[in-house]
Amino acid sequence: MKTHYSFLRILTGADLAIRRLPVMRAESDRPGPVVWLTACMHGEEVGGMALIHDLFNRLRKNGLHKGQIYSFPLMNPWGFETMGRNVHPTQEDLNRCFPGNPHGTLAERMAQKVFDAILDTGPSLVLDLHHDWVRSVPYGLLDPWHDKLSRTAWEESRQWLSHCDMLQVSDHETISGSLTHNLLARGIPALTFELGESFRINEPQIRFGVEVVWKILERLGMVDPMPNPPRPPLPRPCDGRLLEYAGGPVTAEAGIIRYQVLPGEIVRKNQPIARIYNSFGKQLKTLKAPAKAVVLGYRDYAMVFPGMPVMAFGLIKD
Ligand SMILES: [Zn+2]
Repeated sequence: MKTHYSFLRILTGADLAIRRLPVMRAESDRPGPVVWLTACMHGEEVGGMALIHDLFNRLRKNGLHKGQIYSFPLMNPWGFETMGRNVHPTQEDLNRCFPGNPHGTLAERMAQKVFDAILDTGPSLVLDLHHDWVRSVPYGLLDPWHDKLSRTAWEESRQWLSHCDMLQVSDHETISGSLTHNLLARGIPALTFELGESFRINEPQIRFGVEVVWKILERLGMVDPMPNPPRPPLPRPCDGRLLEYAGGPVTAEAGIIRYQVLPGEIVRKNQPIARIYNSFGKQLKTLKAPAKAVVLGYRDYAMVFPGMPVMAFGLIKD
């Protein structure tokens, strides 16, 4: 197996510095599946980059039997350098700009280069690595079915998700500018992995993510199983069920929020999940779970304003 490091050129800056995206590739001598890992599309979601580093280190030690693994470890260097979600100079969300446009905005041009680079390799599967809030648990996310998508690619993605030893969630809305949506529309299986907390590297969550990706590569016959893989104490799949993503409840008050449940916990309908207090300590409201669900995560700040959804759930439907 060989590893290659290269760059995809994005643009020349005002200071004439060439801006480019790093590309990592592991290549076996034998032909086989082509798997992509993309990370740091949102600049503060940094853990996917560490996952890719750890995965490539493991590939160097254990080898790759067939095929190729490509990755963009840092898709949004401007967001990363400024610790923000968006492409900083234009404040665009890169994951709303696919498939991109060579004559469009800065982020649309970046998206087009990324998208074309991925398509050029004839990918078998693309895993787009993201992170939610500081307090959140890892889960795999499938795009909702949409008639613009390839049924075969969507079914295959669903199959891949069902093999992942992690919480499995179906997104509640179609995001037509996302990377995964546009790959699925081109007939390429694609999943989003939300791998827990953003901003910093949560080591157990990253180890968990490496194991999930390794298992996929193992199923594809690309790598050997790991003897005694580490198993961090993170939420197991809900009986292999596909949960439905839901944000909420929405507050009607402003104040300080105190949570009563933890990410990864299963809550029942109407279970109290958080309380809102005013600055004198008077309780204004008790928020309740909308349905039986897994708590996926909650807001990074203690402050709430009216109209803010405070939590994310994976609804467990009977
Ligand atoms: Zn993200």
